[in-house]
Amino acid sequence: MSEARDLAIIGAGPAGMAAAITAATLGVDTVVLDEQASPGGQIYRAITETPVRHGTVFGDDYWRGLDLARAFIGSGATYLPGTTVFSVAPRVEDDRREIGISSGGQARLLRARHVIVATGAQERPMPVPGWTLPGVLTAGAAQILLKSAGLAPSGRTVLAGSGPLLWLLAAQLLRAGGTLSAILDTTPRIRPGLDMLAFATSPYLSKGLALMRETRRHLAPISGLTGLRAEGDDRLRGVSFFDRAGTTRRIDCDTLLLHQGVVPNVNLAMSIGCAHRWDDSQLCFVPTLDAWGHSGTDGVSIAGDGAGIAGAESAAERGRLAALDAACRLGRIDAARRDREAEAPRRVLATYGRGRAFLERAFRPIEAHRIPSGDTIACRCEEVSAAQIEDAVRIGATGPNQLKAYLRCGMGPCQGRLCGLTVTELIARARGKTPDEIGHYRLRPPVKPITVAELASLPRSEAETNAVARQ
Ligand SMILES: Cc1cc2nc3c(=O)[nH]c(=O)nc-3n(C[C@H](O)[C@H](O)[C@H](O)COP(=O)(O)OP(=O)(O)OC[C@H]3O[C@@H](n4cnc5c(N)ncnc54)[C@H](O)[C@@H]3O)c2cc1C
Repeated sequence: MSEARDLAIIGAGPAGMAAAITAATLGVDTVVLDEQASPGGQIYRAITETPVRHGTVFGDDYWRGLDLARAFIGSGATYLPGTTVFSVAPRVEDDRREIGISSGGQARLLRARHVIVATGAQERPMPVPGWTLPGVLTAGAAQILLKSAGLAPSGRTVLAGSGPLLWLLAAQLLRAGGTLSAILDTTPRIRPGLDMLAFATSPYLSKGLALMRETRRHLAPISGLTGLRAEGDDRLRGVSFFDRAGTTRRIDCDTLLLHQGVVPNVNLAMSIGCAHRWDDSQLCFVPTLDAWGHSGTDGVSIAGDGAGIAGAESAAERGRLAALDAACRLGRIDAARRDREAEAPRRVLATYGRGRAFLERAFRPIEAHRIPSGDTIACRCEEVSAAQIEDAVRIGATGPNQLKAYLRCGMGPCQGRLCGLTVTELIARARGKTPDEIGHYRLRPPVKPITVAELASLPRSEAETNAVARQ
């Protein structure tokens, strides 16, 4: 296998898989790199090998991914599962960009003329007091355990937060025979708005209502609560909160699953140098892209939820558009054909786009659950509290990058994934500025941890590269 490719796609979720199918069908020499053992990304995780074969547990939306995964596997694109991309060079050399990959403890380099970053979304941090206690994890982590290992939490389990995934996971856990002691819904009261009309005609309304109705048949959620706090000593013992009347309530539990929406996974795209801006509707940084998903960085496109949260169906269509544009830039098809073949994906995007504005407004996470205070941990890797960050700002830290020097915030194994947004919003509040003015950590490779041995194992010459590839 030559290490020089025309198109490298990073991520085999709906966006990456759809992009690969489109590109391979157009005869583009394509390689797909994904850290997971099998295709599917987040929504279709482990779809070709999940132990949960009972069709109803995950629902039709999940199983719709099986056709896409099979078409992807049969597409002719080279697929490298279990492969983590730790770097994509910010500069082009000899018309190609160097990509650092790690697989099975061995690192090596690829070079590609065009890169589609389809690394998806991650859950928004929810830095409430006690969120680092053993027994507290994210709803998405519980869903990953269910999809990949068929495991549901045992004991007294509380699901807390807001957003479509919260209701989806509640239904999936209950269908899988799991039990929930309580659902704590932090969604603020929703004010009527014009965006409700568009939402009413989008595919999301019926799905959302069906999930809520199904869950309510098992247990009534406690809604409109604030001041969520995980309590315990060496481990989680319970969760407390203020109910709508402002009364303090507490529920004893062994597991607390937190969730308040998903945000683009920006690390790789930012480390390449792709421009990002603060999106106040999604309360996160999103890349600046053209109508094809091409970033301002030549030869780099971003597709899927990494381009801004729009859901699985839109992710696949964005993947198709990015692949069509890449094929055109690589000279495989002309612009007329690209535009013609883009019509269908754009229609689907318009349909699913209709409901987003309302979803973002309705499930806007409250400030108290986004921006911590006092000794609540903001940076988990380096155990830095909100108060320490505010102190650093008081003595002169102006932004996230200075904070690295002051407190090592964002310098741990997650490279700012779990604190980037929190730190930006904390500093913005402390300095009376906007998150866009404060900015995000400057991200550099490696964006995922690799060992020194792997770095040392990197071939030092083209000849050595090919020797390793032949192994
Ligand atoms: C934990 C979680 C669970 C979710 N569950 C659902 C659900 O059940 N239903 C739903 O409708 N939506 C769900 N979503 C929303 C989800 O973002 C979208 O539905 C959809 O999966 C987005 O597709 P995508 O192709 O953009 O990215 P993803 O599906 O997220 O795929 C991105 C892929 O890139 C891989 N990747 C990332 N970085 C690297 C790297 N550096 N090197 C190699 N591989 C990399 C990831 O492991 C992943 O396989 C979930 C989101 C999260 C974060």
